[in-house]
This record gives sequence, structure tokens and C-alpha cells, in this order.
Amino acid sequence: MDLLEFTDRGIYCPRADIFIDPWKPVDRALITHGHADHARPGHGLYLSTAAAAPVIRLRLGDISLETVAFGEARTINGVRISFHPAGHIPGSAQIRLEYRGEVWVVSGDYKVQPDNLSEAFEPVACNAFISECTFGLPVFKWQPQSQVMSDINNWWRDNAEAGRTSIMGAYSLGKAQRVLAGIDESIGPVFTHGAVENTNEVLRKQGIALPQTQQVTDDQTKEDFAGSLVIAPPGALGSNWMRRFPKASTAFASGWMAMRGVRRRRAVDRGFVLSDHCDWTELNDAIAATGAERIYVTHGYTDIFRRWLEERGYDARIVETEYRGDDLEEASSGAEGSG
Ligand SMILES: [Zn+2]
Ligand SMILES: [Zn+2]
Repeated sequence: MDLLEFTDRGIYCPRADIFIDPWKPVDRALITHGHADHARPGHGLYLSTAAAAPVIRLRLGDISLETVAFGEARTINGVRISFHPAGHIPGSAQIRLEYRGEVWVVSGDYKVQPDNLSEAFEPVACNAFISECTFGLPVFKWQPQSQVMSDINNWWRDNAEAGRTSIMGAYSLGKAQRVLAGIDESIGPVFTHGAVENTNEVLRKQGIALPQTQQVTDDQTKEDFAGSLVIAPPGALGSNWMRRFPKASTAFASGWMAMRGVRRRRAVDRGFVLSDHCDWTELNDAIAATGAERIYVTHGYTDIFRRWLEERGYDARIVETEYRGDDLEEASSGAEGSG
């Protein structure tokens, strides 16, 4: 019996009778992080990191949720379970399961580049590693975050000098705060869409420092927005909500902005390539760092990536999951070849 199995409800550990990020209701679920494709409603009992819990509660309401600190172990029927930083969004974890010396790690979503916001990614040694590969193609190569943030600040500064509002589309949990953490506050005021502000509030309450932001309400006038930066979820960008900003430049921050076709479909003025996932090199390095001989790949370019890993001598397999990848959701009808 393998330590983990792949079922139609999700990744399952039969020995501990527990699921990891299940997509159908189960009795006991381990949750890597609060994004909608990983933290779903309807489970009996949830276990997450203490740092991920506040946003999970914000999104799922009154659930039965227990928490552990990073690195703290729980043993269930002989299986030792612990959570380790995934570097994807604040509180996000890789989940390590160990039974009689055999170790499996479920990556959830992960990012190795530090973002000054999330707990830094830690490689975890294991025998089998279940890895997302959202950007598992050599064409994906990220610039350092400092470079991307400097580009974003320059775009905002140019707009501010011309009296325009800068509107940045960014996923409300994770990306929005990552952009906030890297902006130059001296350029102008920062406004947020309610979905972003709700998340900011929860994160601030748990001690995560973010720049001052003001929620967009019906009280403000277009003069208030001149020169400001507005951060809004992708869905708000094409909506009526935008009418209050008559003189605006729009942008979008996502790993998919590396692809011309996606950039065009988003119909924004600027695309900034900023992802909360690994690029090609980072994926390969992270996998090598685990020392695992068996790799399961999920969501993204699984066929190509599996074959590549096999050629490198790994026992590489594809697992079908219902994780969409938050970046994937942003890519409108799905990026080319994403499957
Ligand atoms: Zn995610
Ligand atoms: Zn995901």
C-alpha cells in the first residue's frame, strides 16, 4: 500500500484515513492554503497552519478548524504529519507525511522566490513528491521580484504624473498583497476593491504588515482617484465597477502575462509577469532538492513535464486533480496548452 493514494475525492492517506486538499466533502482534511481550489467547504474537520487559518475562516465561515505551527508534528495512526512553508501565499504549506521511515510530501502550490510576505519556501527531503507544475515549460522564466516591482512603480509614477488612475488586476488573496508589499508609497494614495480589502484586514489582524490602503466606496470622486493606484480582483476589471475611473491605465499581474495571447485576451494596457508559482528552473531545482525518486506532477503542463522528468531518471507520474492553479483562473479561458 502506498502512503498516499489518488481518489476521486482527492489525495488520500489510507493509513491515517485523511485527505489532503480534497475537492469533495470528507471527514478529515489537511489544507495546504486558503485558495478556493484547495480549501473547499463541506468537510467534517479541517487542519491547517495557524497562519493560514484566518483567511480559510474568512472564506469558509464557521468550520471546525484545528491548527498547527509550521514544523509541529501530529501523529495519526502511526503517520507523522507536519506542515512546512511553501512560500506561495502567507500561511501556505507543503504537507509532509511519514510512516515507518517512508516520507511523502504534497507541495500544494509553491514558490521558491522570496516575496517579503509569505514564509520562505523550505525544501523537504522525501521519497515521493507531489508537485504542481503550473509553469512547467522552459519558456517560463521569472525576473527577480525587485525588477518587476520597479516596473510596476514606474508605470504607476508615469500615470500619476499624467493625472491618470493606475488600476492593477491582482488575485485578491496573495497577489494583491504581494503587489502592495512592493509598492513605493510615496507615489500616491492606494485604493482597494472590497474583496482585496477584506483579505488585507484579516492579514493585518494576524500581524502581517501592509501599506495603508483605502477601500473604494461610492463616496469618493474621480478627483480622489487621480494619481492613485487601485488594486482590484481580475473579475472587477471588465465590470461596471470600473466606470468610476474615467481616466485610467489598466494592468494585470500574473505569470500568464509572459504569454502574448493571454495578455491580449485580458485587454489591459500593461501586463506584469509576477507569479506565486515556480518558473521552469525553480521547479526543477525544487524537485532536485527534495531528493525524491518518485515525482507526481499535477496541474499545468503535466505531459511535457512528466516526460522531461522521466528523461532525467525520475519515476515520474501524472496525477489528475481538481486544482486549477490561481494563476490559471486568471488566464480567462485558460492559457494555450494548459489543459
Ligand atoms: Zn494557490
Ligand atoms: Zn492551486
